[in-house]
Amino acid sequence: MTDRKTLLVTGGSRGIGAATALLAAKLGWRVAVNYTSNEAAAAKVVAAITDSGGEAFAVKGDVGSEADILEMFKAVDERYGRLEGLVNNAGIAATEQRLDQMDSARIERIFRVNVTGSFLCAREAIKRMSTNAGGKGGSIVNLSSAAATLGGGGSYVDYAATKGAIDVFTLGLGREVASEGIRVNAVRPGMIDTDIHADIGDADRAKKLAPSLPMKRAGTAEEVAEAIVWLLSDASSYTTGSILSVTGGR
Ligand code: NAP
Repeated sequence: MTDRKTLLVTGGSRGIGAATALLAAKLGWRVAVNYTSNEAAAAKVVAAITDSGGEAFAVKGDVGSEADILEMFKAVDERYGRLEGLVNNAGIAATEQRLDQMDSARIERIFRVNVTGSFLCAREAIKRMSTNAGGKGGSIVNLSSAAATLGGGGSYVDYAATKGAIDVFTLGLGREVASEGIRVNAVRPGMIDTDIHADIGDADRAKKLAPSLPMKRAGTAEEVAEAIVWLLSDASSYTTGSILSVTGGR
C-alpha cells in the first residue's frame, strides 16, 4: 500500500482518457483505467504506468450500464480502498446524420453513455468522497466538447446536446457538493486528433479541418490531459463548477 491518491478514468484505454491516465500517473496518482472492449489498449496504458514505477489496473465496464458502473467502483474499492479523483471521460459519437434520419436507439444510447453514465459515475464517486459521508473530498472532471457551443447541426445534434447537458451538470453539481470537499469541473476540448472521429465515419476529420482552425492544427490528447490533471490537482483548489476550454481558440 502506498500513500498515492486514487483516480478513476472512464474510457482510459485510448485517446484523451489514456493520455490523462499516463500523465496523472507521472504526477503521482494511482490509476484505475476503465475500458469497455479494447482490453489490449487498456493493458498497454497500465503497463506503461507500472513499467515506470507507478500503480494502475484495468477495469472493464460499459458506462452505459448501471450494473457495470457499480461493479467498476467495487473493483476500485477492493483494489485501492479509496478514491480522490474521477475523470468522466468515456464518450461516444455516431455517424453523421440529421435529426430526421436518427432512430431512437441511437439517441438513447448516446445519452445513456455520455450523460447518464457521467451522472452515475459522479454519484458513486461522491458517495466515497463527500466529507458528509466520512470521505476526504476529491475532484471530478467531466468531458464537455466545443460541440456544446456549436450545436453539431447537420452532423450530430445528439452528441452536441449531451455535452450541453454535461456543462449544466458541471455547474449544478459543483455548487451542490462544494461544501463537502468535492470540486466538479469540466474540460471542453475542440478538435482533437483521436479515434472518436472514426465513430462518425470520418477518421481523418481532425487533419481535414486543421486549416480552418485558428491555430491551423488540431489539438492532441496530451494537451487536453494537461488541463484535466490541473483541475484534478490541488493547484485548482478554488475552481469549481467551471468549464475550461482547450479548443485552440475556436
Ligand atoms: P476515443 O479516442 O474514441 O476513446 C474513447 C474511449 O472511451 C476509449 O477508451 C473507449 O474504450 C472508451 N469508451 C467508449 N465507450 C465506452 C463505454 N460505453 N463505457 C466505457 N468506456 C467507453 O475518444 P476521445 O476522442 O479520447 O474522447 C474522450 C472524451 O472527450 C469523450 O467524452 C469525447 O466526447 C470528448 N471530446 C473529444 C473530442 C475530440 O475531438 N476527440 C472533442 C471534444 C470532446 P475502448 O478502448 O474499450 O473502446
